[in-house]
Amino acid sequence: MLSSLVRNAHGSAIRKMFNATVGQSDLINFSVGEPDFITPREIIDIACTELKAGKTHYTPNRGILSLREEISKFHAKEFPCDPAENIIITAGGTEALQLAIFSLVDPGDEVIIFGPSWPNYLGQIQMAGAICRMIPTYEENDFHPDIGDIRAAINTRTKLLIINSPCNPTGAVLSKETLRQIADIILEYNLYAIVDEVYRNIIYGNIEFVSMYSFNDVRDRLVFVNSFSKMFAMTGWRVGYAISNASVINGMTLLHESGVSCLSEPYQLAAEYALQNSLHRCSAMRDEYRERRDIAHAMLNQIDGISCVMPKGAFYFFVNISKFGLSSEEFCMKLLESQRVVTVPGSGFGACGEGYFRMIFAASMDKLHCGIERISTFVKEIS
Ligand code: PLP
Repeated sequence: MLSSLVRNAHGSAIRKMFNATVGQSDLINFSVGEPDFITPREIIDIACTELKAGKTHYTPNRGILSLREEISKFHAKEFPCDPAENIIITAGGTEALQLAIFSLVDPGDEVIIFGPSWPNYLGQIQMAGAICRMIPTYEENDFHPDIGDIRAAINTRTKLLIINSPCNPTGAVLSKETLRQIADIILEYNLYAIVDEVYRNIIYGNIEFVSMYSFNDVRDRLVFVNSFSKMFAMTGWRVGYAISNASVINGMTLLHESGVSCLSEPYQLAAEYALQNSLHRCSAMRDEYRERRDIAHAMLNQIDGISCVMPKGAFYFFVNISKFGLSSEEFCMKLLESQRVVTVPGSGFGACGEGYFRMIFAASMDKLHCGIERISTFVKEIS
């Protein structure tokens, strides 16, 4: 018999929808959360050159120092961090999150997350044997958590919070006031928090983006997580990083050594090059997403019965379909069967996501036009 870890594991709803489509043609797929852009050419070239030059060996477990130095420079204006002690390079933000959770919680500890949330948090918390407490957030509140709800969820077993801003799936960007209030709670109850900012470079308009990691007084209780995946359209490369105090980073490095050991050197060098030379690419991609967001958002909101708030960051619409009286899973499955459009049911992001579906808008304008027309046809069918 397989282990209880596997028997109790639930795959994510995103992958479930993705798998339901295998072998089908004429699909318009808005399910998987990655940019449609290919990694900028110059970054690919660096990786190829380094590989051909024979960079085929292990690197230090916590990553090559020159990349950690570049990351430290990249964040220098917002917060200080020592490249030797405070940074670890990981297999995407995903591994950074897992190492942070495994370093901070014991079986039976409780972890607070805000729903609707990225489903992998739940899987990782369960793998650590910890208990997940999801605090719902609501559209009418800009998907910001209620501070009273956070206080009410804390008990003696509470150890950790996970804060994701900009948020997948809602696109919410948490305000400075909310972050400050959460930071005060962390200090008051001696908790830790993971600050997942893998979408921090994808913010639209004049929204003020504040990282909780920039608050000096709470920084020692935090693990900051970022990744090259969304920033430089490098999802398949699996390069991310975490920043925290030396003791947490040492703990994460020990676990990383047993699991992944280290990342490929050419990819680390290419990531270093990207931070030095290709930041303009991030803004160009963001501007493109903004244009697509504005047009696709208007199209979606013209469909009778559907409504969608304007996402402030990341590249997802969290679309309200509560008027149709179908569960979000029924809605998405019927939409797939009838119109061959792939979306993700809101319930896959937690019970409070019921009544919504998530679709990505980091897709070509043609695909968005055609997909939203098909959604409109489907809505007429079921209305
Ligand atoms: N955090 C959030 C909120 C995400 O949506 C994702 C990916 O979709 C990740 C972390 C991890 O991304 P990666 O492992 O590709 O860096």
